[in-house]
Parts: sequence; C-alpha cells; structure tokens
Amino acid sequence: MSTRARQYAAEVLRREQLTPHLVRLTLGGDGLQGFGSTGIPDEWVGLVVPQQFQSRYYTVRSWDGAELVLDVVVHEVGLVTEWAARECVGETVTVTEPKGSFAMPDSAGWLLLVGDLTAMPAMARIAESVGRDRLASRLVRIWAEVPDAEVLRGSGYLPEGVDVTWLAPPGDGQSDLAAVVERIDWPAGDGYFWMAGESAQMRAIRKHLMRERRLPSAAYDVMGYWRGVAKRQPRAVDPGPIWRAGKMAGKDDDQIWADYDEARARHE
Ligand SMILES: Cc1cc2nc3c(=O)[nH]c(=O)nc-3n(C[C@H](O)[C@H](O)[C@H](O)COP(=O)(O)OP(=O)(O)OC[C@H]3O[C@@H](n4cnc5c(N)ncnc54)[C@H](O)[C@@H]3O)c2cc1C
Repeated sequence: MSTRARQYAAEVLRREQLTPHLVRLTLGGDGLQGFGSTGIPDEWVGLVVPQQFQSRYYTVRSWDGAELVLDVVVHEVGLVTEWAARECVGETVTVTEPKGSFAMPDSAGWLLLVGDLTAMPAMARIAESVGRDRLASRLVRIWAEVPDAEVLRGSGYLPEGVDVTWLAPPGDGQSDLAAVVERIDWPAGDGYFWMAGESAQMRAIRKHLMRERRLPSAAYDVMGYWRGVAKRQPRAVDPGPIWRAGKMAGKDDDQIWADYDEARARHE
C-alpha cells in the first residue's frame, strides 16, 4: 500500500484579505473530486503552490463538499506567504488528503485552546465543533496571540459566546505563548488542552504540562506549526507520514508531535 497521501489539483476560486495578516483562499474545481473531510476539527492538508515542489501545511477551515477554504497567514518571507500575498485567483495548487490530530475525550469537562494566528483556523473550527451548550457554559476558553485582534474580535471569525483572551505578539515575529500557558488558572476536573504555534514555544509547554501540570498525554495536544528560524526553511517536513508511522507504532499524539519537531530540526 502506498504511504503517499492522495493529491488533488485545485483551482483558487477566490482570495479574500480577512485581516492585514490573514488571507482566505477558497479552492475548488473538478480536481477536488474525491476529496473528503476526516471530520476532525484541526485537520490539515499539504499545499503546494505553483512553480514550487515543497509543501506547507494548512488547516481545513471548511469543506462543504465542493469548496475548500484555507486561511493563510502572510508573514515576512516564505514560499506560500509570497504567493498568497499577491493575486492568485485562477491558479492551480496541489492539496493532499487531510489528516487531523484533535482528540478530546468525551469525558472532558473543559477545553482550553491556545495559539497564534496560524492556529486561529483550527481554534475556530474546534470551537464551532464543540456545540453551543459547552460555549454557553464558558467551559471553552481561547488564548489567541494575534497581530490583528482588533479586526478579528467581533468579526464572527470565532463562534459567538466563546471566552477569548486576545494577546498581542511581543513583536519581531516572536511568540510568548509558553509564558501565557504557565500563567493559566486551570479549571478543576478533567479536560482537554490543545495548542499550536511556534515550535520552541510548544516544546517548552510540553515540558510544563508533563512536569508541572502532570497532565496525562491523552489530555493534551501541543503542535509546532512553524519554526522561527532566521532563514527560509530548506525543506518542510510532512507531518503526515510521521503521524501515520507514530499511530501504527502505538505512540500517543504528544510523542508524535515531538517526533515531528525532531524531524524538522534534522532538516535545518
Ligand atoms: C498541522 C499544521 C497546520 C497548520 N495550519 C495553518 C493554517 O491554517 N494557517 C497558516 O497560516 N499556517 C498554518 N500552519 C503553519 C504553516 O504551515 C507555516 O507557517 C509555514 O511555514 C508557512 O509557510 P511559508 O511558505 O509562508 O513560510 P516558510 O517558507 O515555511 O518560512 C519562511 C520563513 O518564515 C518564518 N515563518 C514561517 N511561518 C511563520 C509564521 N506563521 N509567522 C512568522 N514567521 C513564520 C520561518 O521561520 C522562516 O524563517 C500549519 C502548520 C501545521 C504543521
């Protein structure tokens, strides 16, 4: 059996500037026939843009059976950043079949979501997926470290009723999310913690959750979505095969995401 993820050619139907740093791309066309959602709310696809061979990874913001929506952070330099920053409607990209990681136990009494702008699509979808009752009871909390909070707040990007703490990034493409998590006042009882953003911050938090909070690994999912390295990454490492191999080896999510960090460090 092939371990390569299935690939689909998709046309960029629309490009919308949601905020100064976030571009919404709606993909569609016949090439997406056979594409399907896993139903896991943080599912992602690999994306290859025209004239490039390397993939970058993007959360499925939505898939309605015909149109696939990706929200792309436009930062300083980068393969996808530079392409998405300009007009790209009508161009053809390649996307891979989706994979997801979020696995909140049914018994979870609360859900904490922490992330930077790259995590906003997943946090929005996760919050949408947990249902109004949980949102209304304030058992879902989000910490969002984003440069465009004033635009996102009240824009409907996150479902109504979700309890959000908006945080400004410290500047210079840096992130302070590890310190934010260390200050969280944790709810009582069992719940689920999901977090994504810059890898070094995520590594620090994994240690914190294991050593200080002593959370069982099934109670959290912490993912390095990008690496704050000074140069353009020579090659992005596909999380898909690492994910599949880890699952087959019976590893838990956290070990798999730590393996992913290590694999990316080897490629620098
Ligand atoms: C499972 C998963 C889901 C993801 N979902 C999303 C999503 O929905 N939306 C989204 O925008 N991103 C998402 N990401 C993150 C995205 O894949 C990375 O940010 C990617 O590196 C961007 O590619 P690029 O070609 O623009 O930059 P690259 O060519 O990869 O990097 C160029 C330079 O930019 C820096 N850089 C990379 N990303 C960022 C950033 N976000 N902010 C500041 N500097 C950066 C790098 O350190 C490097 O120096 C996800 C990642 C994973 C693993």
